[in-house]
Amino acid sequence: MAFSQGRHTEAQALMRDADTAMYEAKRRGRGGVVCFDAQMHAQLTRSVRLDEALRHSIVRKQLWVAYQPIVDLQTGAMTSVEALLRWQHPEMGAVSPAEFIPIAEESGEIIPIGEWVLRQACQDWAAWQAQDPGAAPATVSVNVSRVQMTLGPRLMQQVTQALENAGMPAAALQLEITEREVMKDPAKARALMQSLRDMGVRLAMDDFGTGTSSLGCLRDYPFHTIKIDKSFVTDLCRDPHVLAVAHATVNVIENLGMLSVAEGIEEPGEVAVLQAMGCRYGQGYLFARPMPAGELLATMAASSSPA
Ligand code: C2E
Ligand code: MG
Ligand code: MG
Repeated sequence: MAFSQGRHTEAQALMRDADTAMYEAKRRGRGGVVCFDAQMHAQLTRSVRLDEALRHSIVRKQLWVAYQPIVDLQTGAMTSVEALLRWQHPEMGAVSPAEFIPIAEESGEIIPIGEWVLRQACQDWAAWQAQDPGAAPATVSVNVSRVQMTLGPRLMQQVTQALENAGMPAAALQLEITEREVMKDPAKARALMQSLRDMGVRLAMDDFGTGTSSLGCLRDYPFHTIKIDKSFVTDLCRDPHVLAVAHATVNVIENLGMLSVAEGIEEPGEVAVLQAMGCRYGQGYLFARPMPAGELLATMAASSSPA
C-alpha cells in the first residue's frame, strides 16, 4: 500500500511504490499489511544494485574467503577453521554476508558463488598442508545454503570435484547447514546429507537453537558436529535458564557421539562455563577473528606452542 501525500506527480510512480510495499509484504510473510516509506525505497534500490553487482563479483575477483579458527576448549589449541565469504566492492566497500547471501539466494547466484567458495576453501586447505602440516587445520568447514542443497546430486559432484582438484581427503571437509534450512524439507535434506556422509564428508548443523528443532531431532540427522548458536553463548553467564538449556544441549550432543562447538565466544567467563559443562570446541572473537588465508598458519602455530 502507498499514499500519494503530494509527493507523487505521476500515477506510475505511486503504482511503483505500492509495488515496492507489496514485495516487502511478501518478503515478511503471509497475511501482513505494509505501507510504503522512503527507507523501503532506499533498501530496495540497494538490493537491486547488490543483486546486479553480485553477478560480476567472481570474474571481477571481488570475493575472498576469510578463515576463523575453531579452538579445542580443553587445550586452547586451534584445530580447525570455518570458511567465511567476504565481498569487497570497489564503490560500496565491504558488504556483509548477512546482507548479500540472502540476495544471492534469491537470485540463484549463490550456486556459482557457493561452488567458488568450496573450491577456494579446498585449495587453501591443501596449500596450508603443503606449507606446514603441523600447524595446518585438520578440517575446513564451509557453509552451504539451502539453495545449494536443492542441487542434490549436482552438489555432490561439485564437492567431489573440489576435493579432487585440491587433492584433499573428504574427511578434511566439513559442510555446515543451518538448523532452519534443514527443517524446511527435512526428508530431502536428510537423504542428501546421508549421501554426503557416505562420501566421507563431515556434516555440521549450524546455528543450533535458532530454529524449531528439539534436542530429540538431533539423532535423526547424520551430523558429526553441532554448532550452538551465539545467542545461547552470550546469555550463558546472565540467565540461569539459558545455562540449564545449554548444559542439557551439550550433554545430548556428546552422548549422541557428536561434537559440540560453541559459536560467538567473546568473554573468558563464557569459556570457563562451557568447559565445565563439557563443551568440546569454541569459536569466537575472544580467540581470533576471521582472517585471510595467508595469516592463518602463524596464528594456529602460536595457539599450540606453550606460552
Ligand atoms: P555463521 O556460519 O554462523 O558464521 C559465524 C558468524 O559469526 C560469522 O559472521 C563470524 O564472523 C561471526 N562471529 C564469529 N565469532 C564471533 C564473535 O565472537 N562475536 C560476533 N558478534 N560474531 C562472531 P559473518 O562472517 O558475517 O557471516 C554471517 C553468516 O553469513 C554466516 O553465519 C553464514 O550463515 C553466512 N555465510 C558466510 N559465508 C558464507 C558462505 O560462504 N556461504 C553461505 N551460504 N553462507 C555464508
Ligand atoms: Mg557457519
Ligand atoms: Mg553459525
